[in-house]
Amino acid sequence: MKNESEIIARDTENYLPVFSRYPIVLDHGDGSYVWDLNGRKYLDALGGIAVNVLGHNYAPLVNAIADQARRLIHVSNLYYTEPQADAAAKLSELTGGGKVFFGNSGAEANEGAIKAARKYAHTIRSEKSQIITALGSFHGRTLATLTATGQEKFHKGFEPLPQGFDYVPYNDIAALEARMNENTAAVMLEPIQGEGGVRTPADGYLQQVRALCDQYDALLIFDEIQTGMGRTGTFYAYEMYGVTPDIVTLAKGLAGGVPIGAFIVTEKVAAAFHAGDHGSTFGGNPLACAAANVVLDVIADDAFLSRVKAVGTHFKQKLEDFRTKYPAYIVDVRGTGLILGMEMQKNEVAAAIARRMLEQGVIINCTAGNVLRFIPPLIFTKNEVDELVCVLDDCVLDIYDQGGL
Ligand SMILES: *Cc1c(COP(=O)(O)O)cnc(C)c1O
Repeated sequence: MKNESEIIARDTENYLPVFSRYPIVLDHGDGSYVWDLNGRKYLDALGGIAVNVLGHNYAPLVNAIADQARRLIHVSNLYYTEPQADAAAKLSELTGGGKVFFGNSGAEANEGAIKAARKYAHTIRSEKSQIITALGSFHGRTLATLTATGQEKFHKGFEPLPQGFDYVPYNDIAALEARMNENTAAVMLEPIQGEGGVRTPADGYLQQVRALCDQYDALLIFDEIQTGMGRTGTFYAYEMYGVTPDIVTLAKGLAGGVPIGAFIVTEKVAAAFHAGDHGSTFGGNPLACAAANVVLDVIADDAFLSRVKAVGTHFKQKLEDFRTKYPAYIVDVRGTGLILGMEMQKNEVAAAIARRMLEQGVIINCTAGNVLRFIPPLIFTKNEVDELVCVLDDCVLDIYDQGGL
């Protein structure tokens, strides 16, 4: 029998207590909506944290996964498969050439990118190994990627951390310049910080970072795990800023919900790798790649991307209107396309709004404490934005009627 509280109790008893979860059990979905076990419907403006880019139950994706599962789910990387060859070719083309490696998550993609940067840098000089990242960044939970993550709270308790990582404030080019030297192997950045609160780059910042990397013969790594896959209305966020990295990572939306990660390197960096230098048992298996092929075909399309941009512009305007309406409570509205953040005055208010919205049937989350984050499926419509905004308005009003907490 399906019983929500029984399932929650059973999971809580047996699952490592590392997540603070909302108290609902989700059962199925369709488009931008999901339903819980009790049949309650929710508008999903989180999309599994920027993963379900084509929404839920998208028939071409579901069919491709089912068809592929009947042929082969997995064979190992000791053999070739057509889905992997197709997915690698598509990604290489979308990235302006270069070579692709598939893993199974964002952290693994970044781990591979860091290894690639070190491997390449060591062909120049054995001491060239420093990786510089930004404060407030998020790059994953493996030891190297949590070390790359410029937030102490993720480091605590896991020491000793891998060596060779340094941090600079995001958007501070002077700080980066002061920290770089001949032994810098790479600078690794999210073009827009996602978990860090949807923080966007200052005008010219990414171009200046690129110039410093060129000056010191260091690689530029863009972590596009959250911002890539059409999220900003361009395939990669970096396209908006006219800056090309040497290594880029993807994961989250890449296979529409099937676990996958990828890093793509230029031919110059790829030349540092030889058979046996890196690997993965599951990475790039035919099931994940069959899913990625469907997602890439849908998203790498000008009409699809301009729709994302248009819906995002409409959404952001609505959030800006809120800021005008509640100037004392809303500090800032940031982002572009369908990665938007609304910074609230207080953490407690942001958390209370997210909880209240869930009760009202809308899924969003807060990040960096006080930022309401909107990263819905990329198929989100203007009507769905309006539905969300209407509920958001009610929730903000309710909470301030109660004295603003
Ligand atoms: C989610 C995320 C990661 C980590 O991805 P996992 O699949 O959870 O390992 C890394 N970088 C960025 C920018 C992310 O948003």
